[in-house]
Amino acid sequence: MIDFHCHLDLYPDPHSVLREIVRRGCSVLAVTTTPLAIDGTKRLIGSAPHVRVGLGLHPELVATRAREVERFCELVESADFVGEIGLDGSPPHKASLALQRDVFRTILQRTALLGGRVMSVHSRGAAREVLEDLGRFGGASTAVLHWFSGSLRELECANESGCWFSVGPSMLKTEKGRNLAGHMPADRVLTETDGPFTRVGNSPLFPWDVADAEATLGRLWSVDESEARARVRENLRSLMKRGALERRGNGRSSA
Ligand code: MN
Repeated sequence: MIDFHCHLDLYPDPHSVLREIVRRGCSVLAVTTTPLAIDGTKRLIGSAPHVRVGLGLHPELVATRAREVERFCELVESADFVGEIGLDGSPPHKASLALQRDVFRTILQRTALLGGRVMSVHSRGAAREVLEDLGRFGGASTAVLHWFSGSLRELECANESGCWFSVGPSMLKTEKGRNLAGHMPADRVLTETDGPFTRVGNSPLFPWDVADAEATLGRLWSVDESEARARVRENLRSLMKRGALERRGNGRSSA
């Protein structure tokens, strides 16, 4: 099972979650919300197999932590993955959108200079702006749009510009979410939870709860759950190949 967007460091007991991830053989991208969390998250993960860490600066934190973009730019060269980054234009964060865009563009440009990275990207309430900035400043990086909630037209733009997507149980619970997922290219879709911020009842979602998303994807793709899981695994394999090329700088654009 694959959880390509999980805040592993923010669970109340991350060590026990990690043990269970390893026991079940899940592949996880542990995204961070601030570059200051990268060292602690790496220590937490240690040598756990198939658990990778993303260097992030969450758009919801930019209003108070914009200056951490400098630290991000220092650390990104040695980061294999980037995330969570992006823009949030929803009412509580709209006021900082201009600042968020400065930070996002700085991150994209610095990452593009290094050849690019696979990036887990937040776009709530700002899909159009995210796609614009990725198009102008994203270079050869591969953006995985996490929990995409834009319009079908915006989804089409994202498809055309080569974006990937990660979808989870919370997104797929809604009719809109399922409709969007049904329009995503099936060879560029991964599963995620966004745990522990997503919940079922009183419990946060755990990486293995992507099983629920696999079942829904199976219905959307008219295949059974195990075939859906196999396809997502194949997608991750092909994304990792792209990521390895980008990290070696082969994706470096001339711009
Ligand atoms: Mn998140």
